[in-house]
Amino acid sequence: MSTIAFVSSPLDRNANNRTKPDFVAERRSHPSTKVLQLAGDTIRLENDKLYTANDATEAEAIYLGEDDVGHAWFARGIAPNETLKPIRAVMIEHLLPKATFSILAQARSLLHWHESHGFCAKCGAKSVMSDAGYRRHCEACGADHFPRTDPVVIMAVRHGQKLLLGRQSSWPPGMYSALAGFMEPGETMEAAVRREVLEEAGITVGAVTYAACQPWPFPSSLMIGMIGEAESTEIKIDKAELEDARWFERAEVELMLNNKHPEGLTASHPYAIAHLLIKTALDAK
Ligand SMILES: [Zn+2]
Repeated sequence: MSTIAFVSSPLDRNANNRTKPDFVAERRSHPSTKVLQLAGDTIRLENDKLYTANDATEAEAIYLGEDDVGHAWFARGIAPNETLKPIRAVMIEHLLPKATFSILAQARSLLHWHESHGFCAKCGAKSVMSDAGYRRHCEACGADHFPRTDPVVIMAVRHGQKLLLGRQSSWPPGMYSALAGFMEPGETMEAAVRREVLEEAGITVGAVTYAACQPWPFPSSLMIGMIGEAESTEIKIDKAELEDARWFERAEVELMLNNKHPEGLTASHPYAIAHLLIKTALDAK
């Protein structure tokens, strides 16, 4: 039912086996193994298909898992070049099957973590990749480091038949979406929703319910979609965070979701969780 990207991986991550060097070595060298090539959030395609020739013999290629026909998938980082395609563009242009995007998300987030965590956070020595990409080990002090995921709450806040949507100045003109913000340590998802909405729009939120989530690999977020019930209506915008925030009537939001708004306003792209969340908030009323 969902149109959002990154939520249905066809791969078995095979976590019990990826820690076994013999298993990983066999998968690296197997002729049927597929290897993605990424540079940042761009990916190598060939004839509008993923480029998957096997060069996983390089030790820094990361194991992603096994597909349903028994092929192993790896990913490795390459130097940027102008022939690579941004993952966002691949999504918008529907160049690849939707299930593939979960593989891209896994690959992009893991590669980014390795590229930006080459040194031990405890002692500063260079660390080495371990467990086929799911751990970095420091041989100087013995510390182990694990890939990170950064939780972000994203929330459709409603008051009766109205929805609170905002926009950032960096977004395409006319696009409004659900408010969002990074969770802080020691915070519940519900508390993060209430804090962010109060900070950014001055609105007090009462009841909060979980709706859905979406990995967002730019570079390594988990978007946690929530629906909040507003207890106040007077908006006070934090201009450092938002260019605008407004209450939209239900009928207007439906026009925005369908790209039929008379003033050209839109609500985020169907591949993003905000789109699903806004729809869910409207449908539940
Ligand atoms: Zn160390």
